[in-house]
Amino acid sequence: MAGTLAPPGDQQVPERWRRYPRTPVPAGQTTLTSVTLALTAGRQTVAGEATEVPGLLLSPHVAGDPLRYTGDWRLVHAASGLSVCPAVPIAYAREVAQWYARAGIDWNRPGRVIADDPAAQRVFLALITDLEDARYEHRPLVYARTSWVHWPPLWRIWRSGTPDPDGFYTYADAAAPAESAGRGDGDAQIRRDTSSPGWALQCAAPGCCDGYAWFIDGWDGDSEPVIGERSGIERDARDVGWRDHDRHHWICSRCAGQYR
Ligand SMILES: [Zn+2]
Repeated sequence: MAGTLAPPGDQQVPERWRRYPRTPVPAGQTTLTSVTLALTAGRQTVAGEATEVPGLLLSPHVAGDPLRYTGDWRLVHAASGLSVCPAVPIAYAREVAQWYARAGIDWNRPGRVIADDPAAQRVFLALITDLEDARYEHRPLVYARTSWVHWPPLWRIWRSGTPDPDGFYTYADAAAPAESAGRGDGDAQIRRDTSSPGWALQCAAPGCCDGYAWFIDGWDGDSEPVIGERSGIERDARDVGWRDHDRHHWICSRCAGQYR
């Protein structure tokens, strides 16, 4: 019996392989570029990522003979290809860029000019010291925020002079259910509490969850911050792997693993 030349369906080249994109990603949709590293063995072009510091790029760390990616990252002076920080995990490398952004060094100068600039030398040595301290303590080099937030008073629906047990974070949040439930029950009012409901905790790491770093009650799938007494929140947060580095800064269990 004559067989067909077509391979079985599950072995056909997927449509997406035939239609792969042939044009570059538009410049506004990428931070990626390339950078030529100046290494002891010679010059080597690798991927680079723009940082908030003009003139500095994030790049993968390479080492060995032959050269290979190590899994760590560095900040590189784009013009010279020289590294401006030790090889570190990516969370630290991104924070080094933030640290340098506050240091006020102009990196859009030739490498030999920066090398002779005493201010740049002092900044580099200070970075090395700060980075060593942070890594020794397994904490961020730069904190994005303080962890404890004293929550402002909630908005609450009152009916017949009695407050509902559940409060809302914003007036609009309270207004929506009040309106839908309020028909035929004309005396529903929205009032703001006069005191704070307590404290909320957030992770202080810059890269945490795109900035939504609240300690939440993950058991019931709720994504609102847990609000209450600090001692109770501290206990519950420690139970799921959050750690405090000082009175003001806590790191969540997900971020903690990045500070090696
Ligand atoms: Zn975190």
